[in-house]
Amino acid sequence: MKLAPWYPMNEQEIINAENQLMANVFGKRQIVITKGKAATLWDINGKEYVDCMGSFGVALLGHCHPKVVAAIHEQAEQLISCHGSLYNDKRSEFLQKLVAFTPEGLDKAFLSNSGAEAVECAIKLARKYTGKPEIIAVMGGYHGKTMGALSATWDKKYREPFQPLVPEFKHVPPDNLEKIKAAISEKTAAVLVEPIRGEGGIRVAPDGYLQGLRELCNEKNVLLIFDEVQTSFGRTGKLFGCQNWGITPDIMTLAKPFAGGLPIGITVAKAEIMSAFKVGEHSTTFSGGPLVCAAGCAAIDALVEENLAEKAASTGKYFKARLEELADKYKIVKEVRGLGLMLGMELRFDVYRILLKCAERGVLVLDAGRNVLRFLPPIVITKEQVDKAITVLDAVLEEEENARTNPSNTTAN
Ligand SMILES: *Cc1c(COP(=O)(O)O)cnc(C)c1O
Repeated sequence: MKLAPWYPMNEQEIINAENQLMANVFGKRQIVITKGKAATLWDINGKEYVDCMGSFGVALLGHCHPKVVAAIHEQAEQLISCHGSLYNDKRSEFLQKLVAFTPEGLDKAFLSNSGAEAVECAIKLARKYTGKPEIIAVMGGYHGKTMGALSATWDKKYREPFQPLVPEFKHVPPDNLEKIKAAISEKTAAVLVEPIRGEGGIRVAPDGYLQGLRELCNEKNVLLIFDEVQTSFGRTGKLFGCQNWGITPDIMTLAKPFAGGLPIGITVAKAEIMSAFKVGEHSTTFSGGPLVCAAGCAAIDALVEENLAEKAASTGKYFKARLEELADKYKIVKEVRGLGLMLGMELRFDVYRILLKCAERGVLVLDAGRNVLRFLPPIVITKEQVDKAITVLDAVLEEEENARTNPSNTTAN
């Protein structure tokens, strides 16, 4: 047996071990994060970062939210696992808290462990309820990487190596009602879209589109599924993304921030639809475990008590306005998009080097495709932290712009 080293590892040893022992599927940054609080992260050397990655949208409440920490601690001493074939107090509490704030009518849930799983459940449910096989998704959509979810995901770099995928998935151009209308057939069970495409570059649904889609699905008797894994839990300034347009889907998928940072996936649907599943037709061993549900209860309490949706709206407005200042200042910036604290800045070239330069200067930013900088900070990010992120980005964009107008400038290397 190979024993792990007993001594504390240094930065390079930690990196080496991950590189050697873990599947090489993440585009890694050479930073070892060891601690987090609210919207601040620290690396192993004590260097501080403003976190605009938010663990890809998971850390919406901020890292180590005190309510979540206390709930996990307390529950860990009480009960950690409890299969769905037995009842549990925390699971019951979580479900009640959940459906108390989901959009009206979406009041029966299946609990799983990730966004992709929430999507898998939605796909199976749509097929079971309608008795039809076909799912219409959009070009540029992202729904996860398990085989069913991947079949709905668009990007061919994710799809092509794994064909054949699940049959009867059709992709149509995004934000185009006519194309969806033309694609709907006798076989169509559901249309699956994100209200704001996250991985697809922070693309907000245009005015009238989602309302039109709702009407179209009603008219054609097709289910409307919203993948709100990234757009829910206050992120966009409303509790759920769909509330920005005043419409409700038939099935909604949730995940990332719902358990305060622990792994969770949730599929919520109209009760009549969720009831299409019979005992045994869908399940997962960890569904609604007590530890996750305790953390989830604390997360929902914090979301409501701290008015985080309103905070996302106001901080997001400020952040977006400051990004727009940069867009006016630099020609290399094409556009700023987003709602609440789900923001994107599209550049005219690959953003990878900008991400690295921002990280060097203490600001962690995400990308969304090749050309878009994506900001998914914890909602508790302070105005000072937004200003710091803007100052750093300003300096980095200036360097990049100079390097591009005067290619001999060495700061570009
Ligand atoms: C992240 C994401 C997923 C996949 O979630 P995982 O937890 O990574 O499986 C699905 N849909 C959307 C919209 C996402 O942003």
